[in-house]
Amino acid sequence: MYTSISKRTLALLSTLVLLALSLMAPVFLPWLTLPLILLILLILVSWLLPLLVESRTNRVRPEPALPASREAHQIHSQLFIADLHADPLMWNRDLLRRHSYGHIDLPRLVEGNVALQVFGVVTQSPPGQNFEKNASNKDQITPLVICQGWPLPTWNSRLQRAVYQAARLEGFVARAEGKLVSVRSVQDLETLQARRAKNEKIVGGFLGLEGVHALDGRVENLELLFASGFRMIGLTHFFDNEAGGSAHGIEKSGLTPFGKQVVRRVQELHMVLDLAHASPQVIDDALEITAAPVVVSHTGVRGTCDNRRNLSDDQARRIAATGGVMGIALFDTAVCGPRVEDTAHAIRYLADLVGVEHAALGSDFDGSVMAPIDASGWPSLTEALLKEGFNAGEIAGIMGLNALRVFMQVFPR
Ligand SMILES: [Zn+2]
Repeated sequence: MYTSISKRTLALLSTLVLLALSLMAPVFLPWLTLPLILLILLILVSWLLPLLVESRTNRVRPEPALPASREAHQIHSQLFIADLHADPLMWNRDLLRRHSYGHIDLPRLVEGNVALQVFGVVTQSPPGQNFEKNASNKDQITPLVICQGWPLPTWNSRLQRAVYQAARLEGFVARAEGKLVSVRSVQDLETLQARRAKNEKIVGGFLGLEGVHALDGRVENLELLFASGFRMIGLTHFFDNEAGGSAHGIEKSGLTPFGKQVVRRVQELHMVLDLAHASPQVIDDALEITAAPVVVSHTGVRGTCDNRRNLSDDQARRIAATGGVMGIALFDTAVCGPRVEDTAHAIRYLADLVGVEHAALGSDFDGSVMAPIDASGWPSLTEALLKEGFNAGEIAGIMGLNALRVFMQVFPR
């Protein structure tokens, strides 16, 4: 907490100093005024602005979440927790240090006893993003990328944005002194599980893509993403793309021939297919040709929260029939309520509908949402699941083992 506050204070202080300098400059060195003002603007835009945007975008609700009982803590400490979706890589935050803003960093993952985190990768996001209708030709990630000083190739290539975020994760892994490890194969999963069973506080991670528009139109680019550590591929994000419709797009159509090619190649490469944000028609089309369990990494269910984003009973049943899992999210519009209890309630509905072995977690931490907890607060959900009447074995499945089963089945050896 200390570091991030001091960083913000430092940013403010340096801005004030530069401002004071620029006010004095006309007196002593009039020719310096314009360059100084430009410099201040540059610092404001590249440093302070993303910081302010981020700390306002990914917030934790101020009211305390459900406190975990002694029993919940006891169960929680034994869990293998897997979260199917969080987006911290979009932000220039050092994930190895604890921050007072945002939802995820390594210290908070360790505190929440998380074993496996899927790092979502966003490469395009329409301004005024909404659940109903979004155009595919607009993007607010571009200014964010430029402001945060990402490398030039990322400024206009969605593929390069994906590759860069993959490199960021690998950079954290390299500096984490073994506390954050990259997971890419069944063997990696087994090693992680064995080390966690010996009580080692390590966190495994891999990459998940939010929308195959990041392939820049070439199915061959899936191989580059695979080599970069991607093991989960979501077909669409908030807008229709070359592969098919988004639940929040304009046409909301089904899989295109390119989309079908992508689905087959994703599964040939032993990556997990993610149907989050897909249009109902894309879900139908993908389920028709899938040869492996599929997931919906971060979602809600219409049974407790009826909106365009969430799964109908019928969709949930057919996804479960592939052997897959659905990660229930933590934010208000996914579960129609601001509390962890609302997430637990959606999980209860899903478990009663399709079987508890198909329920999983998909927080959507750092995905521009307000959440009831950050990554350190997962014990609160364990408590809420106990209150929903789940036993310790069922909770172990929901909190991670169900998702782990799917990854074991799909990942390359
Ligand atoms: Zn998403």
